[in-house]
Amino acid sequence: MSAIWYPYAQMKTALPPLPVKSGKGAQLQLENSQTLIDGLSSWWCAIHGYSHPELIEAATHQLQTLSHVMQGGLTNEPAEALAKKLVEIAPNGLTKVFYADSGTIAMSLAMKMATQYWRNQGNTQKKHFVTVRRGYHGESADTMSLCDPQDGFLSGNDIKHYDKHSDYALDEHKSFAGLVPPQYFLPRLDFRFNATPEEIEPHIQTLKTFFEAKSYEVVAFVLEPVVQGAGGMLFYSPEYLKAARQLCDEYQVLLIFDEIATGFGRTGKLFASEYASATPDILALGKALFAGFLGHAAVMATDKVYNAFLSDDKSKCFMYGTTFQGNPTCCAVALKSIDIFERENYLQKIAAINQQLKEELLTFTHPNVKECRVLGAVGVIEVKDANLFKHTQEHVLKSGVWFRPFENIVYTTPPYIISKEELTQVTTALKSFVTIYS
Ligand SMILES: *Cc1c(COP(=O)(O)O)cnc(C)c1O
Repeated sequence: MSAIWYPYAQMKTALPPLPVKSGKGAQLQLENSQTLIDGLSSWWCAIHGYSHPELIEAATHQLQTLSHVMQGGLTNEPAEALAKKLVEIAPNGLTKVFYADSGTIAMSLAMKMATQYWRNQGNTQKKHFVTVRRGYHGESADTMSLCDPQDGFLSGNDIKHYDKHSDYALDEHKSFAGLVPPQYFLPRLDFRFNATPEEIEPHIQTLKTFFEAKSYEVVAFVLEPVVQGAGGMLFYSPEYLKAARQLCDEYQVLLIFDEIATGFGRTGKLFASEYASATPDILALGKALFAGFLGHAAVMATDKVYNAFLSDDKSKCFMYGTTFQGNPTCCAVALKSIDIFERENYLQKIAAINQQLKEELLTFTHPNVKECRVLGAVGVIEVKDANLFKHTQEHVLKSGVWFRPFENIVYTTPPYIISKEELTQVTTALKSFVTIYS
């Protein structure tokens, strides 16, 4: 009997999780020696698969030199070098890096940074955030306030505090009412990646109308650019991001991009923001940045944001710090990961994965399939009837592929080093799952 309380699990009825002994390349080995191809990169992060020798070497070397040191008053070479590298490769204009312990912490501190940005300029009216439905930004009370509260997604049904305008509402999460601050939600971005301007325009108008009425009390507009992950693996047109950038400038609202999942090639570009050539004021990175090796994250800011904290008044500094931020071992691994990514031209590997996913998934038809979609190294089968999910573990063991569906979504976000044969095994497993259990 395990002493662990598992995440997202009804402990009364959940099957015991599969015990993993080791990992190599795209494969996980279970305690019983069965191997599973990891179709998920351990939730988007293990982009080099497991046990990459150069990452092990970078981590080991750093552990032996300086495994950790606090960042208040001290600095370390890997953290400095990684920050410099991120400024070089991130969307133009993001010039500063603030380290964080996890993606959730990164988004939480991004919210705090954005709020203090306005306070430092004497603006006390701005106290809500605006986002779109189906978003996901983390697990803490503040970041959860930006996750879609509808459809029982993550935290129960929504309570509408404000819906004078029918297109948007100030929502609170029911299961956590009182803990979670209410935020504004715009309608779901129900247009595709390659949508026409006519399809996108109503959403841009909604944002404009919202800003006209409410921008005075809005700190920032928060978005996962191009791909909404945990909210349903939805892809939307980057043209919306261009408009969002423009309107945020026009109405003096900060723009925050959460690229914790999309960063480092997952959508086919190094950063999803590149599809729109849009630079957010604040950018959150995590998951793949640390190669699935160690848990860490980073928040990047533009000069505009950073400069608002510069003052002779000490209280205007960014009052934030966590014990493990800027951990040198994490940063050494991230630096090596980016080095391998560039040297071995991972964007080309991702393009090949994209091609193969399109060939193997977009041709799949079944009465229970609502839609198959592919972007970058993300492959999704959306089903109509989601009852099949109770058979997941059975099918994982039978097919030798690790996947984990949610809601009505069966998907893969494979490691970029996956072989052609392994990827075929993944897509075959996903398709047979739908076929057998529908
Ligand atoms: C995973 C994720 C987070 C949270 O990151 P953690 O490291 O799990 O805390 C936030 N935003 C997005 C878009 C994510 O995919």
